Amino acid sequence: MSDYEARRQQHVARAVTLAPRLIEQLDWPAERLAAYRTARLRELARSATMRSRWYRERLANVDIDRLDITTLAGLPVLTKTELMENFDDIVTDPRLSLAQIEHHLRTVETGSYLFDRYTAITSGGSTGRRGVFVYDWDSWTVFWLSLMRGVLRVKLADPMLAGRPAVLASAAAAHFSHATAAMARTFSGAHLTSIRLPVTLPAEQIVAGLNQAQPDFLLAYPSVLHVLAHEAAAGRLRIAPRRIMAGAEPLLPEIRAAAEQAWGMNVINVWGTSEGGGTAVGCGRGGTHISEDQVIVEPVDLAGRPVEPGGRSAKVYLTNLYNPALPLIRYQITDEVTVLPDRCPCGSAHRRIADVQGRLDDVFIYQDRRVHPHLFRSELGRAAGVIEYQVRQTPAGAAIAVRCTAPVSLDSVRDRVAAALARAGLERPQVTVEIVDRLERPGGPAKLQRFIPLGPDSEPSGPAWPAPPALGPRDVVSAGR
Ligand SMILES: [Zn+2]
Repeated sequence: MSDYEARRQQHVARAVTLAPRLIEQLDWPAERLAAYRTARLRELARSATMRSRWYRERLANVDIDRLDITTLAGLPVLTKTELMENFDDIVTDPRLSLAQIEHHLRTVETGSYLFDRYTAITSGGSTGRRGVFVYDWDSWTVFWLSLMRGVLRVKLADPMLAGRPAVLASAAAAHFSHATAAMARTFSGAHLTSIRLPVTLPAEQIVAGLNQAQPDFLLAYPSVLHVLAHEAAAGRLRIAPRRIMAGAEPLLPEIRAAAEQAWGMNVINVWGTSEGGGTAVGCGRGGTHISEDQVIVEPVDLAGRPVEPGGRSAKVYLTNLYNPALPLIRYQITDEVTVLPDRCPCGSAHRRIADVQGRLDDVFIYQDRRVHPHLFRSELGRAAGVIEYQVRQTPAGAAIAVRCTAPVSLDSVRDRVAAALARAGLERPQVTVEIVDRLERPGGPAKLQRFIPLGPDSEPSGPAWPAPPALGPRDVVSAGR
């Protein structure tokens, strides 16, 4: 057994140990949740001011003994730009630095922990700016459990699944710098055996992989789930999962309906974030519940004013209560969220959010191939120095514009993207990469259209994957960051 595998097995054991408590917290009443949240918020703020130079200054005038969900609103907001620019002063272990984590991320494929305990992940983000996040031993465990505890509860209560690890198949990110892939690798074996089917594979390979794996649980991006529902309806995909989870993109009503028709069960929506893990997770009765014991979610409008339940936020301020290594207090993320005022039929005291509406990330169609935008996100998200990008489809490949803060090898980015396109089935893909000072934002300064497909005039017919649904206005930024 390799050193990494031995260490990983310790992580698996830790997840098995922590799971019962996190599952139990799903059933806590509101008062107990609120008290627990306040205590943990104070604990986080205390540890941050003691161990982080940046927070010592920022929270200097805050009375931590009186900090709670109400007074939290008086604290300053942390943006991704601020986080990345002050990273080394924000982290609470003096050994950690952004440069070192970036270096670690370049070797993450081989399997290793930073300083034998830390896990690092990256995110593209709604504007394409790359974020880097680092989790300590237990916080990475909680990150995973916050997403999986509902499924683990089903697994542990199901006599059919007693005595064997259940199979969890994820049709999601390919690279281990992305949370979904990193979690699947770390925790495979903790009641669940992970099978990973990268979304950059051709659809028929994902279908074949699922037919072979016969997963008990399925986790997929909604755009992929939509295709899989069609494949199941057509009889090519033959699986009988006990739970289906969808995350990282808006779960559109038509995708939910197609999947629920194909498999005859509620789809569990997951609002996962690189900053908060399972930030809100579905219960199986149709509700998607905020993990109120692990994060504080403040929905706000564009000006940062609180949005009442029932209204849709322009962004949220997220406080992660479980990762003292990288304290995130009122961290701004641009996801649009509607907290629902009423209780879920399941009885949970964790507030629930509506399914986000909006349209899918744009898929590029090349003759008989549909290429998921994650293929580009995955390769560009790995390039340290790239802070923003825009990918324009060309007839034989893509023209990529990048904004950089550090020198980047354009040739290696180009070659990696071309290789990924070739693996996705394109013949001799043509890719160009250029550095620009600013990216084109046709919709105004706020939103960047990161993926620009070829127009309908040049769009070839006969895609191998079913066409995406009719799309509404682009108003949602998904959490696949
Ligand atoms: Zn519920």
